[in-house]
Amino acid sequence: MYPRIRRPKTKPKNLESRLERIEQELSQIEEKRQLASCICGVEGGIVTIARGMEAEFRKEMNRPCPVHGFRELFIIHAIEVEPGDFSSPAKEIEYPEVNALLEEYERRLAESKRANSLGAIFQV
Ligand SMILES: [Zn+2]
Repeated sequence: MYPRIRRPKTKPKNLESRLERIEQELSQIEEKRQLASCICGVEGGIVTIARGMEAEFRKEMNRPCPVHGFRELFIIHAIEVEPGDFSSPAKEIEYPEVNALLEEYERRLAESKRANSLGAIFQV
């Protein structure tokens, strides 16, 4: 007498879809775990840029995010205004060093986003 062979109740196709669901859940857990260490945006701290604060801003800009690489900052750009009078309106006083830093930040952020989106396309 041979023992009776019990077949699993789940069919292979069902097993496949369950495995797929588990894999999706695992990747969502991993994604959440990684995002918890992100230092971008408001969560990572607000960074102020103004005349005389260039070095601090550069330091914050060069601090990498462990998740995204280049850190996306939440920036407060504090400006100075030359008061106006009846003949001319008030106008912002431009500081080339500050503007150059903000331009560098925007350029590096765009490069980083482009690189990350290419990474997502090729990550299959
Ligand atoms: Zn980040």
